[in-house]
Amino acid sequence: MPTIIEKNIVVIGAGLTGLTTSFYLKKNNADFIVIEQNSKVGGVIQTEKHNGYLIETGPNTGIVGHPEVTELFEELGNNCEIDLPGKEVNKRFILKNSKWEPLPSGLWQGITTPLFTFGDKLRILGEPFRKRGTNPNETLAQLVLRRMGKSFLDYAIDPFIMGVYSGDPARLVTRHALPKLYSLEQTYGSFIGGAIKKGFKKKTPREMKATRKVFSVKGGLSELINALYTMAGKENFILSANNLSVQYVNGKYVSTFLNSDGTDIIVKSNKLITTTGAFALKNILSFIDKEKLSPITNLPYANVVEVVLGFDNYDGFKPEGFGGLIPFVENRDVLGVLFMSTLFQKRTPDNCTLFTMFIGGVRKSNLFERTEAELKNIVEAEFMQLMKPSVFNPNLFKLFWHKNAIPQYGIESEERFKTIEMLKKEYSGLIIGGNLKDGIGMADRIKQGKNLAINCY
Ligand SMILES: Cc1cc2nc3c(=O)[nH]c(=O)nc-3n(C[C@H](O)[C@H](O)[C@H](O)COP(=O)(O)OP(=O)(O)OC[C@H]3O[C@@H](n4cnc5c(N)ncnc54)[C@H](O)[C@@H]3O)c2cc1C
Repeated sequence: MPTIIEKNIVVIGAGLTGLTTSFYLKKNNADFIVIEQNSKVGGVIQTEKHNGYLIETGPNTGIVGHPEVTELFEELGNNCEIDLPGKEVNKRFILKNSKWEPLPSGLWQGITTPLFTFGDKLRILGEPFRKRGTNPNETLAQLVLRRMGKSFLDYAIDPFIMGVYSGDPARLVTRHALPKLYSLEQTYGSFIGGAIKKGFKKKTPREMKATRKVFSVKGGLSELINALYTMAGKENFILSANNLSVQYVNGKYVSTFLNSDGTDIIVKSNKLITTTGAFALKNILSFIDKEKLSPITNLPYANVVEVVLGFDNYDGFKPEGFGGLIPFVENRDVLGVLFMSTLFQKRTPDNCTLFTMFIGGVRKSNLFERTEAELKNIVEAEFMQLMKPSVFNPNLFKLFWHKNAIPQYGIESEERFKTIEMLKKEYSGLIIGGNLKDGIGMADRIKQGKNLAINCY
C-alpha cells in the first residue's frame, strides 16, 4: 500500500530556488513538503573537501544583485556567514592574442587598452547619442554592434557572456538574458548616459541592499545550502524521490514517486511549485499534453565541464584578480579561469594556489562528450599555454560534468513565458519557477525563490 500524505503546498526540487522558497514558506508557517530526487539538497551547488582544498563543484561566486540576497543573509544570521573577497576582485583579465590584458576599469585604461580598436574607442564617444533600439527581440550581439562596435562585442561582451552563460551573444536576447542592460538603453537611451544618471539617482534603503559585490560563503556555498535546509526544517523534505510524476485530479495535485526504500508515496496538495530545470518538466507535469508544454521544455541549456586545479608549487602567470575570461575569437577550449585562492582565504593548504576553469558551453558543446582522459589532456595543454607555469604538476585535478547547466534565454523565451502564464490560469495553484525564467544567477534564484513563497497564496 502506498503511503499517502496531504499537504497544502508541494515544492519540487531542493536546489537554491526550492530551498529559498522552503525557507520563506517555513517562516510563514506554511503547510508544505519538498520533493527532491537526489539524496542531498543543493542541486548544482555543492562544496567538497579534497587534499586540504575547499572546492566548489558548481557555482563559485555570486553577485549581490538584488536586495533579496542581502535580506536572506540577514535572516540567516549566525547560521551562515557571507564571504566577501578582497579588493583584487575588481581586477579581471581578458585574453587577447594569447596574452592576458587587464579589463579597463578607468578612463585612462580605457583609452590605452589594446583590447579595443582605435575606431571603436572613438565610436564609443558617440554611444550616448545613438538612437534607442526598437526591436524587442534584438540579440546581445546585434545590440552591442549597433551601439559600441565589433571589438567591444568580441573582447568585452562575448567573454562576459562566455563566463556567465557559457553562451553565444548572437543567440541570447538582451531583454531576457541581460534585462538590466536592456532597460538601461530603453529608459535612458544610452548605456553610458544611463549608468551616469543611475549613479546620481537617490536610492531607497532597500535598493541600496542590491550591490555589484561578489559573494561566497565562509566554508563554501554548501554552508548556505545547509543553513537553508536546516532552517526550512529537514522534516519537510523527502530526498531520493524517484520517478516523480504529477496528476491533476479534482482540483488537487497528486504527486507520485518511489521512496529510497522502493515504496510508493503519494502526496496530495492544493498547490504545486516546480523549481527544476525546464527539461525535467516533461516527466513531472504528466497531466499536461507534451506538445502544449513544449515551449517550456524546449528551452536549450549549455553543457559545461568544470575543472578544479590545485597546485602546491605554482609559478605561472600571477593570479592577482578575479580571473580571466576568454573571447570566442581566441579559439580556445577553455571558457575562463577563476583565481579562487586569490579571491577567498582558507580554501587551500598553506601557500597553495587554486583555480577553477570551465570547458564546453554552447559553442564548444562537443567537448562535453570527451572522456575524462581526453579532457585532462586538453586542460593540461590549455593551462600550460594560458597560465604558462614551468611545469604542470597539480596536486588536485578534478572534473565535474554539468549536463543542462545554464539555460539560454533566446528568441523563444517570449513563447515560454506566455505558456507559463497560460498554464497558471488553466491549473489553479500551479506555479512554474526555476531557472527557466527570472534569471540564471544565484541572486536571481534567491529573489525568485522568495517571491514564489510570498506570492503562492
Ligand atoms: C557549473 C555551473 C556554474 C555556475 N556558476 C555560477 C556562478 O558563478 N554564479 C552564479 O550566480 N550562478 C552560477 N551558476 C548558476 C546557479 O548555480 C544556478 O542558477 C542555481 O544554483 C540553480 O538553482 P536551482 O535551484 O534553480 O536549480 P538546481 O540547482 O538545478 O536545482 C534543481 C533541483 O531540482 C531537482 N530535480 C530535478 N528533477 C527532479 C525530479 N524529477 N524530481 C525531483 N527533483 C528534481 C534537482 O535534483 C535539483 O536538486 C552556475 C551553474 C552551474 C551549473
